[in-house]
Amino acid sequence: MSIRYIDEIEDLAGKKVFMRVDFNVPLDDNQNITEDTRIRAVLPSINYALDYKAKIILASHLGRPKGERKDKYSMAPAAKRLSRLLGKEVKLAPDCIGDETRAMIDAMQPGDVLMLENLRFYPGEEKNDVDFAKALVNGCDIYVNDAFAVSHRAHASVEAITNLFPTVAAGFLMKNEMNYFDKAMKNPIRPLVAILGGAKVSGKIEVLESLVDKVDKIIIGGGMAFTFLKALGYNVGKSLVEEHLIETALKTYEKARAKGIKFYLPVDCVVADQFNPSAETKVTTIQEIPEGWMALDIGPATVTLFTEALQNAKTIVWNGPMGVFEMDAFSRGTFAMVTAVANSYALTIVGGGDTDVAVHRAGEYAKISYISTGGGAFLELLEGKKLPGIKVLEDQGHK
Ligand code: AMP
Repeated sequence: MSIRYIDEIEDLAGKKVFMRVDFNVPLDDNQNITEDTRIRAVLPSINYALDYKAKIILASHLGRPKGERKDKYSMAPAAKRLSRLLGKEVKLAPDCIGDETRAMIDAMQPGDVLMLENLRFYPGEEKNDVDFAKALVNGCDIYVNDAFAVSHRAHASVEAITNLFPTVAAGFLMKNEMNYFDKAMKNPIRPLVAILGGAKVSGKIEVLESLVDKVDKIIIGGGMAFTFLKALGYNVGKSLVEEHLIETALKTYEKARAKGIKFYLPVDCVVADQFNPSAETKVTTIQEIPEGWMALDIGPATVTLFTEALQNAKTIVWNGPMGVFEMDAFSRGTFAMVTAVANSYALTIVGGGDTDVAVHRAGEYAKISYISTGGGAFLELLEGKKLPGIKVLEDQGHK
């Protein structure tokens, strides 16, 4: 079974295309979109369908309204931004289901774009409820999923709904995500290096275990490094340590070493006397973290070490920041690694919300081969899981 992509659909002209997108964009307190990458990422699919004179019905969630209608989670800002990006009107339906929405869909002309209201205003969405999925179909003809970032969720608009359409396909964003992931993890040009960071080991232990079977080198930074360093006998002061995972961390480390995988951990760090942007800070080696201080970033020697380890890499996959990069005092390590990855002679794939933000802030966006739009979905792919949203696209792609 294989995925059918939008450009393999024979006749889009005049068809009502239900397109699941992920317009879950960040908003400020005044409902202004602060970052619209997720909307831009779907433009190729929308434009393609427009070129073929389809009627495009866009469905997305935004935030966590928890099954209730809440104005602050309206899709209105996303519809407005999309309208500007496309240079054409994008109407917003008052709801995602119901008679009024259906009437708006029925009145659409070829080349029209309609945005449905937030799918998560109904509990049925996250429950993968079949009746809710039936209500969502709204007389549409074709289903297209271009919402990679939710493909690890078995939700009604991602999974249940696919049984209700004769034609099920994936969009170009999904195609890109799949292609790059395959290049990096299925048929990588080696050496393949994985860089993992972020706060905790807990969310990433499955990823690590899966990576140990695939990569040539693992580089660990961020808070998660300190559970490993503690496991190796270092005194890490008040740095983030998950005591219950020390044993697991040690086993993973030993397994990787036994397989001949190069396993890099920080050798120095920026420590602070408190978790605060104005904290007292200094650089110390890992062996000299003062009692009562916490490590919040990798240090300069670690940046040099990690950068050197990347020199012969042909493929690099990265998830998670090297430090608390949201605070200037602890952002240097992450930004230096962005530069190292961006300047490497490798296929570079960055995934996960925070890492993506770091790459943007460092201004190296254009030098990364691919930045995944999926946080959790990207991690689950790295874990080697079959994502429910992708499985249905494979199963139903050529029915
Ligand atoms: P994650 O969602 O697991 O990728 O974690 C991202 C978060 O990890 C970011 O918000 C960082 O501030 C945080 N982080 C990175 N390094 C550290 C550290 N050394 N100590 C505490 N938090 C960290």
